[in-house]
Amino acid sequence: MKLDVNVLRYLSKDEFRVLTAVEMGMKNHQIVPIELIERIARLKHGGTYKNIRTLLRHKLVHHDSSKYDGYRLTNLGYDFLAIRTMVNRGLIVGVGRQIGVGKESDIFEVVAEDGQTYALKLHRLGRTSFRAVKSKRDYLKHRSSFNWLYLSRLAALKEYAFMKALGDHGFPVPKAVDWNRHCVLMSLVPGYPLVQIKELQNPEQVFETIIALIVRLANHGLIHCDFNEFNIMVGDNEAVTMIDFPQMVSVSHRNAEMYFDRDVECILKFFNKRFASNTKDGSLPSSSFDDRPDFETVANLSASLDKQLEASGFTHQDQKDLEDYIQSTSAEDDMNFHEDDSKSKSEEHLSDDDDDNSSEGQSDDAEGAPESDITKLAAQLDLGPSE
Ligand code: ADP
Ligand code: MG
Repeated sequence: MKLDVNVLRYLSKDEFRVLTAVEMGMKNHQIVPIELIERIARLKHGGTYKNIRTLLRHKLVHHDSSKYDGYRLTNLGYDFLAIRTMVNRGLIVGVGRQIGVGKESDIFEVVAEDGQTYALKLHRLGRTSFRAVKSKRDYLKHRSSFNWLYLSRLAALKEYAFMKALGDHGFPVPKAVDWNRHCVLMSLVPGYPLVQIKELQNPEQVFETIIALIVRLANHGLIHCDFNEFNIMVGDNEAVTMIDFPQMVSVSHRNAEMYFDRDVECILKFFNKRFASNTKDGSLPSSSFDDRPDFETVANLSASLDKQLEASGFTHQDQKDLEDYIQSTSAEDDMNFHEDDSKSKSEEHLSDDDDDNSSEGQSDDAEGAPESDITKLAAQLDLGPSE
């Protein structure tokens, strides 16, 4: 994905104001009516109409007139709002090359004022199968809110909170610097993902370090749930760093043992396939299942990390929403939901939901960002009445 941040420099204050108005409108609308954008932005002399054309030209918003005249943010539009916030906070001065692309994220190198390079992860939940989720899950039909902005923001909040907590407890993770909207700013991990490593000096030792990590995580009340060769970075001296936390669960999860075993199994399989012949005696220890902690005991420890994380602003409901989403997408065949025949039908669903929720002031606390965040956002961007 191209991310031309130069546009960021050229956008005027009013253009950003209108972009932010579209974001606020998306709290209650999939497509924000132009009149609402105008009311939120409060620019004089038809300023909203003029500015929205510029935003459209830069592909920061998308125009939709199928039901009424309205706009929604594009990925790029949301990216710009988050990046601008990071710039305003003095955290970054520029965005560089893309270093990773996952099914539901893009990772870029970014540069700070002191010239140091960091990693910025932009979450894109719903990129592949939002339409599928939207049309298939019953309970979602009652919430216009269950959209990509909300989900991507939740994923970022969770990733940041977990990375921070894990780092504070001495786990080898990137340093969590900050987060905003769907973006997490973190230290750049030196080295390569394990999947790219063809040979190790000490495969047994790396293997044991990784298994010990899974066990130590569980002893702290957590399971990674996606512990594989793509989410482990190997750096100098074969030091291991784990990444990618939006799918982590507590050991008190009903499927905790299955997830734990799956993580162990994944590593075991990969090491046997890739590195067994690379070891001194031609094989790796067969398993470390004996080390599986007693989840019930761990779950009851008040010091366990999953308990502490609940206090970090990432709530039970957040976890449930994310989990429901992750489960529903893994159960689907994403390929079915690219550009196929179901498209127009599913899009009708989106529009129907819009209509149900088009009255202003109607609030659903699962919508977009919570009210308090929107208020903070407005303050941050100085979105008072225009001069
Ligand atoms: P996804 O959730 O899409 O799998 P990841 O967090 O696993 O996203 O990141 C995808 C890829 O981006 C990783 O495999 C890795 O190559 C790279 N990457 C992610 N975070 C960092 C980081 N902090 N430092 C260096 N590379 C990273
Ligand atoms: Mg990953």
